[in-house]
Amino acid sequence: MSALSDLQATLDPSRKSWVESANDSTNDFSIQNLPFGIFSDASNAARRVGVAIGDEIVDLAVLQAAGLLKASASASAPTDVFSRDTLNDYIALGRDAWRSVRVQLSNLLARDTATLRDDAALRSKALVKQAGAQLHLPLQIPGYTDFYSSKEHATNVGSMFRDPKNALLPNWSELPVGYNGRASSVVVSGTPVRRPNGQLKLPDQERPVFGACRKLDIELETGFVIGRGNELGEPIACADAEAHIFGMVLLNDWSARDIQQWEYVPLGPFNAKTFATTISPWIVTLDALEPFRVAQPAQDPQPLPYLRHEGAHSFDISLEVRLRPQAASKTSTIALTNFKYMYWTMAQQLAHHTVSGCNTRVGDLMGSGTISGPTEDSFGSLLEITWNGKKPLELQEGGTRSFIEDGDELTLAGWCQGDGYRVGFGTCVGEILPARR
Ligand code: MN
Repeated sequence: MSALSDLQATLDPSRKSWVESANDSTNDFSIQNLPFGIFSDASNAARRVGVAIGDEIVDLAVLQAAGLLKASASASAPTDVFSRDTLNDYIALGRDAWRSVRVQLSNLLARDTATLRDDAALRSKALVKQAGAQLHLPLQIPGYTDFYSSKEHATNVGSMFRDPKNALLPNWSELPVGYNGRASSVVVSGTPVRRPNGQLKLPDQERPVFGACRKLDIELETGFVIGRGNELGEPIACADAEAHIFGMVLLNDWSARDIQQWEYVPLGPFNAKTFATTISPWIVTLDALEPFRVAQPAQDPQPLPYLRHEGAHSFDISLEVRLRPQAASKTSTIALTNFKYMYWTMAQQLAHHTVSGCNTRVGDLMGSGTISGPTEDSFGSLLEITWNGKKPLELQEGGTRSFIEDGDELTLAGWCQGDGYRVGFGTCVGEILPARR
């Protein structure tokens, strides 16, 4: 079989695993998924590369040591990439290696493959229960950029703060608006987030006050991870851009709306965004997302030539936001939407980002921008859901929210639903701690 038909076989909806939990049609981590992360556990505190399958994690370093997995066919490639504490060195091996590893893993975990299935001693070393493992930030992130590419979100924000009749600024339909974010404060799901302090400009006072953010918000986003960088001065063409993407994560771009509103003129957000950005621990590869590829919305006006690409460049990814107040037993679903509503594609974002000659590096993180759908129950931020606090949200357990309160736990979830299987992202969770005094 050719490499491409081997890759195609990993996407076969009828393929099942001997890891039975992976065959549940609502488990995020089917054998069709095989997302990458960094984990450790009680028996081995060393951080290492794992792939999620059902309720388990496959330890790739163990498989490699047993001679069952080869990271790269190249003799000059490093041989210990699965024992590293980030995915960067594995990702740097390139797309042929990612695809070869995907094929090898899919074959090893397939129901009819006895090699690992019937080797109890090796299986007990190579499979770790997710419930007992700790997941870490999977990347060393050289740079983080955040876009603003949902037309619905940009229209809502423009209507709220400027003019409903001219909600979109003239540049919005011509380019994927973005800003350079802060890579140092990207944290993995489960890391508590402290409410930031900063300058707040109250409407009835001439000068700002200093204090804790009163309008703390989420932004429901996805992020994509650069798998192959570009040299300084060498733009990435829109048609080539997807080949530079390793995969996607869920991303919560925590936002302090009151700090943002005062500070953002004229250079864009700063402290309102730099205190934390949470990503999900599992990176779902673009190869696993392939069956869920769908067309992006029609773009009018037609983009300038450097932003044009043929064909379908979006993905059908269901997205959900949940809120649970501290000690509450009930979780409220506060938004349900889909990645496919995004106006600008990841390929267009990357082409625009590099058209100036700006270089990108393996591990760079690119946020989609808040993903809002067309209806009120599909908005991706509390700013929009409560219309800047004017329409408080009713919670399941009683009580309301305009913005996030201390102790609230916010969860993003995302998944592609296939026929009998799921390619899911798991969750992206953060609990808010009170501000420092
Ligand atoms: Mn954002």
